Amino acid sequence: MSTGIKFKPRLLGIICNWCCYGGADLAGVSRFQYPPYIKLIRVMCSGRVDMKHIFRAFSQGADGVFIGGCHLNDCHYITNGNFDAASIVQLCKKILEHIGVNPERLRIEWVSAGEGIRFANIMNEFATKMEKLGPLGKGEGLEENALKYKLEEVTKLIPYIKLTKKKKLASRLKNQEEYDVLFTSNEIDKLFSEIVSYYIDPEKCQACMTCARRCPAEAIISAKNQIHVIDQEKCIKCGTCFEACPPRFGAVTKISGMPIPPPIPEGERTIVRNSHTKA
Ligand code: SF4
Ligand code: SF4
Repeated sequence: MSTGIKFKPRLLGIICNWCCYGGADLAGVSRFQYPPYIKLIRVMCSGRVDMKHIFRAFSQGADGVFIGGCHLNDCHYITNGNFDAASIVQLCKKILEHIGVNPERLRIEWVSAGEGIRFANIMNEFATKMEKLGPLGKGEGLEENALKYKLEEVTKLIPYIKLTKKKKLASRLKNQEEYDVLFTSNEIDKLFSEIVSYYIDPEKCQACMTCARRCPAEAIISAKNQIHVIDQEKCIKCGTCFEACPPRFGAVTKISGMPIPPPIPEGERTIVRNSHTKA
């Protein structure tokens, strides 16, 4: 039996100050109607929107996320941030698809300050679509905890994904149609199946501390004369430790497609050196 209560999605719009926000403003003063439950955040440029903002919004319960910027080639900054937004959104859409979330929950559009009616139309269309899809996860048949876990795992991997796809993310393509095919589903499935992890071999580590000093995420548990250990929860998989570990030690190993060995227990990390052994 239907309760008769219409589902009101939680929708977030992140829109640029110069164009899309102007369009939203014009829609407001022109009294063009769109659902009041769409919450808008103004940013100076759509290029400021990062993958972590998008996934944080979904993790915090948004049923749909909208990104709005100036038309391509109309960005008010020489950085042309809306091109970055286009590639970031396309990548996020493919990742959402990979984890079983409908990619239509994320939408990007270019709206100029004079396009108030267009802004209202897009908002209405997006809201109607999200109402039809239903709540995030439920609409896809995903169990709440499973969805939460997937979103958390993807969020942790964002630095790795951005590093792996940095060339494509910097693409400057001609139009939205080209961005729509910038990343493919197969490519993203492969990316996830080939994720590498880094592990310090306790038999080889000489506690020289080089890796810990260079790690950008403070993910290496380090102390003088103690075998170093990577905190996998903090590791962003940048590979710096792999490059930094002196070749004569070669203690950092790259692992893919296999479970990471458990860390050596805390009480067994001390390196006993005799007087002739130097790190
Ligand atoms: S790969 Fe190595 S350097 Fe990079 S975050 Fe992980 S532990 Fe730190
Ligand atoms: S750089 Fe290599 S040998 Fe030195 S502490 Fe790190 S893992 Fe151990």
